[in-house]
Amino acid sequence: MTGASRGIGVEIAVALAEAGAGVYLTYNNTPPDETARRVSEFGGKCVSAKLDVSKTDEADAAVKECVEKMGGLDILVNNAGITKDGLLMRMKDSDWDDVMNTNLKGAFNMMRAACRPMMKNRFGRIINVGSVVGSMGNPGQANYCASKAGLIGLTQSAAKELASRNILVNVVAPGFITTDMTEGMGADAKKALMDAIPVARFGSGRDVAGAVVFLASDASSYITGQVLHVNGGLYM
Ligand code: NDP
Repeated sequence: MTGASRGIGVEIAVALAEAGAGVYLTYNNTPPDETARRVSEFGGKCVSAKLDVSKTDEADAAVKECVEKMGGLDILVNNAGITKDGLLMRMKDSDWDDVMNTNLKGAFNMMRAACRPMMKNRFGRIINVGSVVGSMGNPGQANYCASKAGLIGLTQSAAKELASRNILVNVVAPGFITTDMTEGMGADAKKALMDAIPVARFGSGRDVAGAVVFLASDASSYITGQVLHVNGGLYM
């Protein structure tokens, strides 16, 4: 899985380990030592590796190493993501490119590399972490919303291409979750959001992890090309 060092990714890795999976933890800057410690409590295999998902060669190498060291690749979770917010009229090219390259091209890089061993095995589960704003838009996040909306089209196309090989591809789309990514929001923005969320709280990484584990499990074997929203009712 990608982006296992912080936030939602930590909880996804731990929940997958709890469900019995070995986990190949990747990170970009922050070594996922705490994630590895928590994952190892469940006794499964755990390997950590540095990976910038936006780099095609690194994605290819990570998938290769994962297959070698873990003995296969059954579940790919594309969780790595960044924001570089700003109003459209002032958005820099680099802010557009960085967000698209990490959030959308990164997922593409990983899916293209991972579907080869999965096709060979005739089994795979690919779960892309999108966002509620990929379905509803958000001022100041044109780049981020476009990347997450793009992820839905990528997911649906891959789901159609890969279904005959027993590879299911879905999106989990979190609403507002308490992590470093949402830490920087102003108090007024947080209050306005809270008023718009029917369950009246931000989500936790654990809330998102439950949906990922479901889509990785046999319980979801007839579900592909879908967007599973985990947002407390913010968007319905
Ligand atoms: P965080 O900022 O807490 O963590 C982001 C993770 O992505 C880190 O592990 C980071 O690694 C990794 N990452 C960033 N860039 C790259 C890269 N180029 N290559 C590999 N890994 C990278 O984010 P969240 O936990 O909040 O978000 C996780 C996912 O959930 C993202 O896809 C985000 O868009 C999505 N999401 C989050 C929401 C929220 O409210 N928090 C709402 C909706 C969606 P490192 O630590 O090494 O830099």
